[in-house]
Amino acid sequence: MNRTLEHILPKVQKPARYTGGEYNAVVKDRRAVDVRYALCFPDTYEIGMSNLGCRILYGLMNQQEGVWCERCYAPWGDMEEEMRREGLLLYGLESGDPISDFDIIGFSLGYEMAYSNVLNMLDLAGLPLRSEDRPELTPLIVAGGTCAYNPEPLAPFIDLFVLGEGEEVTLEYIQLYRQAKEECWSKEEFLQEAAQIEGIYVPSFYEPIYNEDGTLAEMRIKEGSGAPEMVRKRIVEDMDKSYFPVKTIIPSTEIVHDRVMLELFRGCIRGCRFCQAGYTYRPVRNRDPKLLARYGKAACEDSGYQEMTLSSLSSTDYPCLLELCDDLLDYCAPRDIGLSLPSLRADTFSMNLMERLQRVRKGGLTFAPEAGTQRLRDAINKNLREEDLLQSVRTCFSGGWNGVKLYFMLGLPTETDEDVLGIADLARKVYFAWKECSPNKARGVRITVSTSWFVPKPHTAFQWEAQITREEYQRRVDLLRDALKRDKSITYNWHDPETSYLEAVFSRGDRRLADVLEYAWQHGAKMDSWSEYFDFQRWMDALKACGVDGDFYAHRERPRDEVFPWCRIDPMVTPAFLWREREQCYSSQTTPDCRTRCSGCGANRLLKGGVCNG
Ligand code: SF4
Repeated sequence: MNRTLEHILPKVQKPARYTGGEYNAVVKDRRAVDVRYALCFPDTYEIGMSNLGCRILYGLMNQQEGVWCERCYAPWGDMEEEMRREGLLLYGLESGDPISDFDIIGFSLGYEMAYSNVLNMLDLAGLPLRSEDRPELTPLIVAGGTCAYNPEPLAPFIDLFVLGEGEEVTLEYIQLYRQAKEECWSKEEFLQEAAQIEGIYVPSFYEPIYNEDGTLAEMRIKEGSGAPEMVRKRIVEDMDKSYFPVKTIIPSTEIVHDRVMLELFRGCIRGCRFCQAGYTYRPVRNRDPKLLARYGKAACEDSGYQEMTLSSLSSTDYPCLLELCDDLLDYCAPRDIGLSLPSLRADTFSMNLMERLQRVRKGGLTFAPEAGTQRLRDAINKNLREEDLLQSVRTCFSGGWNGVKLYFMLGLPTETDEDVLGIADLARKVYFAWKECSPNKARGVRITVSTSWFVPKPHTAFQWEAQITREEYQRRVDLLRDALKRDKSITYNWHDPETSYLEAVFSRGDRRLADVLEYAWQHGAKMDSWSEYFDFQRWMDALKACGVDGDFYAHRERPRDEVFPWCRIDPMVTPAFLWREREQCYSSQTTPDCRTRCSGCGANRLLKGGVCNG
């Protein structure tokens, strides 16, 4: 271990975050590799280590001869302070070498509030923040993940963005990079070639041109760059052939998801109109249940984990779920390994499945009805009937569960006070279901209602919508709080509105927000998803100093023909389909799920046969 690090570690909290050396961490011989990759997660070790996408890319890259991928996380404030004081540059956890010496630095972007950490990590690595100030090919700064679907607020800092699933495209651009290094290409030459790879967006090849009213006139393609008109996302077509990380790095300190994660399928058949993942991960592609069972067992054997979670966007939609659960439970139950489903759709949650899961430890139960009334659930295409939800909670309570969490959003398009009060009614009905069914009432019940402030996202049916104002959000929170005041068994939590506002600004923001981000970072912004660090006023000051009106992005309804900052990004779900879905919302019409009937979203064009079969 580096001597400076040895000297620093006793002074910081949770030093295990910074040491590396965990079981299954990959250490290679520096001299035997020609591409060194720093896989950066712009949040703490505990969060980054739990990210399935990073686990996949880490394992996949390290399988390649000549490539060494290391992990790098954002240091907590105490560690950052020590690093800056001692002049210790941000380093890869496996080797301890500064990531500025690596070939490629790749960021995984899962949420907008991590953007300030991207800048902070570049700075801690000793690198200039802006791509134009890094004229050399090395290190190349790459970013991917769900936020890449609107890359523009980060555009000046990143050399290239990867759209969609990274398994194949990562290896393709690494190969190209290798060639570029061997043949001494300039950075520009490399980027021009990289832009020809499907799924790669090179932001410097697109120039935003604005109208006088501040809206976008176009994203102009830089002359001579050869950049494509549209950058189409990548998917892995055959999930059975795609890499699965059976060998999981065992963390040396507790992390958020400290367990085996089994990804059943990608995509979602449902089409909830607010859900970006639901649209951008289309089409559905399932994994074979036998293969999954094999992976799950092998991962438990290797890691010694006592918990496995079946993780997908809507796990209960997996067609072979019961078969898979039976297979896994035969293995898990005698070994006391817990099996959990993180997301349950109340309508498909069967007694049968409950009985199977009950054979092992009981996890918490969470349902996300999202809206309190049937009318609004239909408007957002949640396709969940109240009776199905109540039937599901009855099943849970009869089975001995005595706690349920219910998630909702406030401020969804078309929401009225009746819908807000409908949340309280629904929570009460859940309480009565407990009274009716619980075999052990003496233990009491915990019903938690949580609401968040709806954030309209790019590439969804609601990408044209205004976010309601903060005052209006607060009024609706108060309305619901008053309605639930007397119900002692129901706890009401609401999400902090300040981060949701910034999320709304950045998720549909354009390149002008890069200055805001940089200004906020210069004035101390980092770790913005942590209340210990988040300072809303700092962001408001940054917006003001840069002459940018946050409300323009958050609270403005867009006309149908508005040019969006993400207009060059093609998730293969067409804008015409999304607009149709928006109109269906306003008439509270539902759209059937993809298994019942194809609604022609366009994602099938990514599949060789052109037909979705999820
Ligand atoms: S093309 Fe049809 S079946 Fe395929 S994801 Fe879109 S709506 Fe669903």
